[in-house]
Amino acid sequence: ADGTFLNSECPICLEDFLLKSFIYEIPCRHAIHVNCATKWFKLRGVCPLCVQSV
Ligand SMILES: [Zn+2]
Ligand SMILES: [Zn+2]
Repeated sequence: ADGTFLNSECPICLEDFLLKSFIYEIPCRHAIHVNCATKWFKLRGVCPLCVQSV
């Protein structure tokens, strides 16, 4: 990771971020995969790491 995001792996699928183009950056500076974000935010309106509302 280059320090852009607070976390270096996706909290949903627990895989490292490899391709930046598929990463969704949450306003709290946490990041998750775009595909994981789509599924997650349909269920919960919060960041999966810090549980701040998005
Ligand atoms: Zn993921
Ligand atoms: Zn967060």
